[in-house]
Order: sequence, then structure tokens, then C-alpha cells
Amino acid sequence: MNRAPSRVSARLAAIAPSATLAVDAKAKALQAAGENVVGFGAGEPDFPTPEWIVEEAVKAARDPKNHKYTPAGGLPELKAAIVAKTLRDSHVQYDPGQVLVTNGGKHAVYTAFAALLDPGDEVLLPAPYWTTYPEAITLAGGVPVEIACPDTAEFKVTIDQLDAARTDRTKVLLFVSPSNPTGAVYTPDETRAIGEWAVANGVWVITDEIYEHLTYGDHVFSSIVHLVPELADTCVIVNGVAKTYAMTGWRVGWMIGPADVMKAANNFQSHATSNVSNVAQRAALAAVAGGLDDVAEMRAHYVRRGALLHQLLSDIPGVTCIEPQGAFYCFPNVTGLLGRTYGGATPTTSLELADVVLEQAKVAFVPGEAFGAPGYARFSFATSDEAITEGITRIATWAATAT
Ligand code: PMP
Repeated sequence: MNRAPSRVSARLAAIAPSATLAVDAKAKALQAAGENVVGFGAGEPDFPTPEWIVEEAVKAARDPKNHKYTPAGGLPELKAAIVAKTLRDSHVQYDPGQVLVTNGGKHAVYTAFAALLDPGDEVLLPAPYWTTYPEAITLAGGVPVEIACPDTAEFKVTIDQLDAARTDRTKVLLFVSPSNPTGAVYTPDETRAIGEWAVANGVWVITDEIYEHLTYGDHVFSSIVHLVPELADTCVIVNGVAKTYAMTGWRVGWMIGPADVMKAANNFQSHATSNVSNVAQRAALAAVAGGLDDVAEMRAHYVRRGALLHQLLSDIPGVTCIEPQGAFYCFPNVTGLLGRTYGGATPTTSLELADVVLEQAKVAFVPGEAFGAPGYARFSFATSDEAITEGITRIATWAATAT
């Protein structure tokens, strides 16, 4: 008997619905119903794109030459600017032919996995991880191998853990510092040790450098491929303009790597999406070729907000939180709030906690389940001081009602 083919492919049907969606949808519904919800869910800067970048885009939109396709892999001027910027910030010299301009950093992540993975290839994925990584790995035919990194280790993976997780099928290690969702930043020594481990074990590294300019206190960004130059032939950098220039909506990112991998990635993009919006590439060119004054100013706000959020969260009995080291997230351990009863509800997981807090205190955050880390919660401080104070005060007041 012939079996009817399923309507949706197994590959896409297997994509997990985001654990953030339920809370997000509920927050939006409450807001639409007139409730005053304080949101900590945003994974994007709350600042507008700097005016001088927007001006370049306006000018570009008026010039008919930008109404056409660019080369699939990106504008040559933009690729050259990305090469110069990568030398400035990551201290690694690449050739423009090694750069692929993508539709955001997310697209670069997906393309990198698609270019490197064969079915069954394993990717070492330290958890907590950004929600997109495991889905991108699986879509590309790979197998994510999660490595749990607790707050007691500042959410950082150790060499012993990498050794224990490596198998004959290990192809890639996903490395991200500063990290979403934890805000953790690896020290140069830790970064070097991981890069040397990858070289010694023949493991590729995909390094996500998108939060490179957002580090706090003594924490500094260091590019793994700079610290371990032998990695250059087995390393792919992903990056983009979203976080540094408050340009999340413009959708420009890039991928840089060895020539053979980049050629394959370029071929893939030429059939999948062709070039990124020409006007958006012109805006990105202005941003990447411009200075870093604006991000320094935004960073100063994040420093203040991160300290405020960290202090207020840490003051709640049952919540512990490492200080933010980078990016714009606090990732507190909330297990101390579980198993108590609040207004008739007894949340036993961070996912349930997010739901109850939203319902009762009208505050939205992303539960750790979305990042492979139950028991934690992600709070973004890409929001105002007033919202931080109001939102966390609400949670503290609510938490005190526990029976
Ligand atoms: N990497 C990480 C770690 C991120 O947090 C994000 C954005 N949430 C991205 C990549 C991709 O950003 P975009 O696609 O907006 O450039």
C-alpha cells in the first residue's frame, strides 16, 4: 500500500517551537488587553541606529545603482571594509574572497553549519546556548552535543568537559564569547586553551563574535583565531552589525573562513538568497568603515543598567546571579524561587515560573529552558533604568508573597 507523503518534511517538522514563544505571545496578549507588562525578553539594543548610518542608507536608496543586485557574496567595498574591521578588532588578516555577506549573523550561523556538516557530524555545544544553534545544526544534518556549563563555572566550558564530550564523529565546536544568554566572557587564557585543544584534536571552531564590543569591567574580547593562529584553516568567524551599531532590523551579517569553505558557502547563498539588500549593505558599509564612538556610548549605558539589574536581582531571596561580563543579559539561577506557592500557583520549573510571574507580576523574561538550561532565566538589560527598577521591584514584591 502506498503511504501518502507527509505534508511537512521531516526536516522542518523536527524544528522545535521556541520555548520563548509561549511567554512572548502571552506577554503580547496581555499588553494588547491593556495590561502594563515590563519586558526583559528583548535580544536587541533599544537604541535607534546612529543617524549617520541611516543617512547613508537614505542616500543609497535614492541612487538607482543600488536598485540592482550586488554580487551574491556582497558588495566588494563592504567585503573590503569587513576585512579591515576584522584586522582592527580580531587582529586577523583575511582576504576579501574569504568574506560572505549574509542576511544577519543568524544566516551566517546557519550557512557555516551547512558548509561544514555532513549527516551525523557532531557539534560540541556548550549550554546555556543561544536558541538558534541547535536548530541550525540539526537542519544542516548535524547532531548537537550539549555540554552543561553551570553558573558555578561562570557558564564556561572546560577542557576536561570537551575531552569527555569528543567522539570520532566530532567535527565542530561552537564558541561564543561574549555569550548570549549568559553574558559570560572567556579570558584570553581560557580562549587560547580552547583553541589549542581544537587544533590538537582536529576539531573545527565556529566562533560567534557578534557581541565583541560589549564587554564590562576587566573582561575583554579576544578572538580565538588571533590567539591560536594555527586555527585559521579550521575556523569560521560569524559576526554582524546588529548589536554593535543597533542595527538588528537591517539584517546584515557575515561569515569569514578558509577559501574552500567560503567558496561552497558562496555557491549555496547564490542559489538560496542571492545578495543581501543592496541598501542595507550600504548602511552596513558606513557602519563598519566608521568609528566606534556610538557603541562606546551605548556600552556606557549597558554598564550602568547591567549593574542595576544585577544588584536588584541579587537582592531577591532565592535568586543568585553572576555579574554580567558582556553582551546585555543577566542569567540568574532561579531555582530558589521554585516549589513555593504564589497566589495559588506552585511553579516547579523555570518555564512555569516565567508563566506565573508574567500572569501575576506582569513581568516577562525568557526561561532557561529556551537555552538548554532549566533553572535559570534570561533578563535583557537593553532596556531603560526605569523599566529595570520597576520590573525587578515587581518580581521582588511578588516573590515575598510566597507561602
Ligand atoms: N549570535 C548571537 C549569539 C546572537 O545573540 C544573535 C542575535 N540574537 C545573533 C548571532 C544574530 O544576530 P543577527 O541575525 O540579528 O545579526
